[in-house]
Amino acid sequence: MSTALQGRSALVTGGNSGIGRAAAKALADLGAHVVISGRDAERGDQVVRDIRASGGRADFVAIDLRDEASARKLAARTRELAGHVDILVNNAGIYPFGPTELTTEQTFDEVFSLNVKVPYFLVAELAPEMVKRGEGSIINLTTMVAEFGQAGMGLYGASKAALVLLTKSWAAEYGPHGVRVNAVSPGPTRTEGTAGMGDDFDQLATTLPARRPGSAEEIAEAIIFLATDRASFVHGAILPVDGGRIAV
Ligand code: NAP
Repeated sequence: MSTALQGRSALVTGGNSGIGRAAAKALADLGAHVVISGRDAERGDQVVRDIRASGGRADFVAIDLRDEASARKLAARTRELAGHVDILVNNAGIYPFGPTELTTEQTFDEVFSLNVKVPYFLVAELAPEMVKRGEGSIINLTTMVAEFGQAGMGLYGASKAALVLLTKSWAAEYGPHGVRVNAVSPGPTRTEGTAGMGDDFDQLATTLPARRPGSAEEIAEAIIFLATDRASFVHGAILPVDGGRIAV
């Protein structure tokens, strides 16, 4: 086990599935004490068991993230478990696709609550403590469809475009105090969340220079880079890990 993150603590929202789980495992492999969150305790406990079986440190917090109160509650619980948070991975997200005219207000609010409001208040709660310690790394998960128009993906893309701008704003706000804020922008990636998408997902992957979807582990590599001191001069970057979609 490498020790690059020994003594550091990380919070990964949505760490019981897909990209979040791969990131949590990779962070733990580098020695970080990882707190993961999600609603499904069975999947959360399984990830914790896997990490502990590999000699790592991990805890799971079962929580439905939907507003400021739930974000602040998760931060408080993470402090109880891990002392403080050096690395925040704002990963939990939903991506319901479909025609604009069929989208309900409830779906609209759910997407913006989990994808924008929760990261916003987690940063509001945790970044000031990082500033006090003079160091920290925040990584937001955005998406390639925050950058261009894709039919049926406007609501999701708009929520992540907000997170792209917040990434840059927070880099400007907290960077001078030693806190690096960056984002990873994945292309289509095989996870539990995309498992049921069928043809649409495969079709999207064929538009990439890589001509295939990514794996959660490939996205986690970029998250790890941004989390560690190897990215010490990287602030406000939106790192595409999208099989080359950025290029075409
Ligand atoms: P996923 O497999 O669908 O997992 C989503 C995670 O979010 C789960 O851990 C889920 O846990 C959690 N979550 C969902 N609703 C929640 C809620 N109300 N409260 C708390 N936690 C909640 O996701 P993924 O595909 O790995 O994607 C991870 C991130 O990458 C997302 O932000 C997504 O937008 C972004 N991304 C993914 C892709 C892709 O192709 N997969 C591409 C670009 C960007 P519970 O269900 O237990 O609550």
